[in-house]
Amino acid sequence: AADLPPVSETDPTAKALGYVEDASKSTNPKHKAGDDCSNCQFYTGGATGRGACQLFPGKSVAAKGWCVSHTPKKG
Ligand code: SF4
Repeated sequence: AADLPPVSETDPTAKALGYVEDASKSTNPKHKAGDDCSNCQFYTGGATGRGACQLFPGKSVAAKGWCVSHTPKKG
């Protein structure tokens, strides 16, 4: 997954989902402190760097990124 090209914040899907590379900089009212891709169930990757997201096939998202579809990992 590390080799996938990074998704751009200006990608239409990214924009639609309010994706940001840095969750701490999100101004989206749905963002909760501490939520980022690394603790989202759609993310496959490490706690740092980048990984794959089921919502962005063929692209990588930032471990510290975030979007409105964030869903906490179970258990
Ligand atoms: Fe990140 Fe989850 Fe949104 Fe994918 S669905 S971009 S892993 S917060």
